[in-house]
Amino acid sequence: MADTRVFDIKRVPVEEERQQLVTEQVYTILIRPRQTTAVLQFIEQRLPRLAGIEHVKRVKKHGDGAQLLVIMCQCSQLTRTEFDAALRGTEWGAMEVAVHAVPAVAPYTGEQYERWKTVWPVAYRPLAHVQKTLGLDDQTYIETTLRYVNDMARQRNCGLVVAAVCSPKTRLVLAEASVVAAGEEHPLRHAAMCCIAQVADAERKRLEEEESESAQTVVPAKRSHSLVSVESKCDLNGGDLNGDGGGAVVAAGYLCEGLDVFSTKEPCAMCAMALVHSRIGRLFYIKTQEDTSSNGGGISRYSMHSLKALNHHFAAYECILKKKK
Ligand SMILES: [Zn+2]
Repeated sequence: MADTRVFDIKRVPVEEERQQLVTEQVYTILIRPRQTTAVLQFIEQRLPRLAGIEHVKRVKKHGDGAQLLVIMCQCSQLTRTEFDAALRGTEWGAMEVAVHAVPAVAPYTGEQYERWKTVWPVAYRPLAHVQKTLGLDDQTYIETTLRYVNDMARQRNCGLVVAAVCSPKTRLVLAEASVVAAGEEHPLRHAAMCCIAQVADAERKRLEEEESESAQTVVPAKRSHSLVSVESKCDLNGGDLNGDGGGAVVAAGYLCEGLDVFSTKEPCAMCAMALVHSRIGRLFYIKTQEDTSSNGGGISRYSMHSLKALNHHFAAYECILKKKK
């Protein structure tokens, strides 16, 4: 059967996957295998614990394996004078001390692991949650929704940015917004921001109805926080958002928790941050083959979907619109 898909969906690597090899230095000594237990005991009792390089294996075979290299501690923890003083008078004081470079960050991809373990043996735990492949059924839903926002952008006006929020469970569009392209748009009222504001609005209405039904309804603190912050942004922009919220939002705790966002353009840094705050699950944005410059940049330039410093991460997919044959 011919491939009728018009989008080539590629997951955008997370920050860790883009990590280049960086090393840090450690003090090592050369021992016989039978001395391993004793030296590990000495390290445990007398030297600082390894900090931040727990992925590094403590012991490495040396040469044909008749000897072992053991990491004693990090050079950042003790000066050479302090290190020598710690060993003086012990059975390890006479051993040959060397300084070795070891990977300072844990490997997250198979390629990083293969390359980095040649520097020093390391433990490898793949990032399973981000490497999930999309199921066929899921792909069809994504393709359909991408076509929906793309067609809407094309029909209404060229240069229009359209975004939509969907529930991956019900596959219903919960919010959608369209604004003019970057450069001509309101500084805050971007399509993704308007979508979140709509979800907030629907959620507020739902809570109000719930409250009127039962005066004893307790509003979860986290959710009302998200609501207030997005609502206030919305007011700043003058309100009046496109379309209607369309149904109840099934979000547990946070505004857009686990929801999918579809956009005809890559979100800017501000929108990407708003998507982080609202706890979306996945982002799909369209990129045409001509669109080589990234005017969005929130994902491709700033990796906002996967910054270690932020407390929420989401999966981002760049959906390249294939050229018509
Ligand atoms: Zn934006």
